[in-house]
Amino acid sequence: MKNLALHWKILIGMVLGIIFGVFMIKIDGGERVVTDWISPLGIIFVKMLKLIAVPLIVASLIKGISDLKDISKFKKMGLRTMIIYVVTTIIAITIGLALVNTIKPGEGISQETVLKLKDKYADNKSVQAKIAEAGNQKERGPLQFLVDMVPDNAFKAMSNNKLMLQVIFFTILLGISMLLIDEKKAKPLKEFFDSLNEVVLKIIDLIMLIAPYAVFALLATVIVSADDPTILLALLKYALVVVLGLVLMIAFYLIVISIYTKKSPLWFLKQISPAQLLAFSTSSSAATLPVTMERVEEHIGVDKEVSSFVLPVGATINMDGTSLYQAVAAVFIMQVIWPEGLVFSNQLIIVFTALMASIGSAAVPGAGMVMLVIVLDAIGFPSDLLPIALALIFAVDRPLDMCRTVINVTGDATVSMVVAKSLGKLGEPNVKNWDDNYKK
Ligand code: ASP
Repeated sequence: MKNLALHWKILIGMVLGIIFGVFMIKIDGGERVVTDWISPLGIIFVKMLKLIAVPLIVASLIKGISDLKDISKFKKMGLRTMIIYVVTTIIAITIGLALVNTIKPGEGISQETVLKLKDKYADNKSVQAKIAEAGNQKERGPLQFLVDMVPDNAFKAMSNNKLMLQVIFFTILLGISMLLIDEKKAKPLKEFFDSLNEVVLKIIDLIMLIAPYAVFALLATVIVSADDPTILLALLKYALVVVLGLVLMIAFYLIVISIYTKKSPLWFLKQISPAQLLAFSTSSSAATLPVTMERVEEHIGVDKEVSSFVLPVGATINMDGTSLYQAVAAVFIMQVIWPEGLVFSNQLIIVFTALMASIGSAAVPGAGMVMLVIVLDAIGFPSDLLPIALALIFAVDRPLDMCRTVINVTGDATVSMVVAKSLGKLGEPNVKNWDDNYKK
């Protein structure tokens, strides 16, 4: 076990977690044992990853910017990143729409299944909470997201993981100002952040030591809290359409990597796999961010100047998997309970709103479903049918969330490689020899 590569250890942890979870549902009181005694380890692990996110973004973004020799490069990188993020998201939504309209998973769902799902989930607390949360989001004006991005208190921004874009905004301002003052005067601050950056990377290594055990706990918990398999089966076709779309999206990334960056797709997958496995286990791109950054910088060779900007921004605004899922889910719901909505203009509205929704979705579990309500609202979906709409897809949301988060993270990593390549900043991997362990 000791010399095994990290991704194998994590994979073994996941498989054992699933087997253990399946075993525990079969025995009396097993579910309780998992939630009381196993699940806390997973929760602690995710909390630790989130704990390190803000210090990591601040330290590495400052290091990235202050290593730049001139600011015009930063402008170029920012613009390129945004354009590529929008383009990949539109491609993801288009793939989702093409699949759901040709395979039509909604047609196989009987009225009986709809009623069963409605009875089981429409009044569910979590479904109602998502509708209420989406209601709050809807009240916001079109430019509110820009206003929200600007903090009025740097420390308040840093004390809330949901305000990641505010932290990025403040840090960029700080980093650029450091470039603009006399180099000697900026030196102490630069050295401080360089040192903080090294320490934070070490903390990530330490946290990753428990990753294989934590994913065991996370997956065992997912299994014992999963729904009745007959319900999952009824939604299998819909779930498969989402998964097929996500697989096509990965294929798209791999083609881009091989053609544009001239790197081997298999090599890329191997390097990024620990981040993908964690994305799958935690369902949160924000929690996975520290690991994504470490893999992309050290194991893929993207310069910190690029990764420290592209990845944190991507974790918050670029969610290809989520937007693909939203497109499929919205059309699936129409196929089942609102066929009159299936007109071409609505599909166009879905492209636009799913794009905006993926920018607005928080990088946490289940966020995609909240924003789905906004997509449905934009196409004029009757609000009294909303609880039924969410009830329809709720049972498979968690497994699909796990899968779409993998794509969200892979998409960010791919874009960071493309941006780095276009700026001549894609170098050779530089794996630190103390990586993945606690020795010096
Ligand atoms: N869980 C996803 C993420 O963190 C967001 C979502 O689709 O719900 O990337």
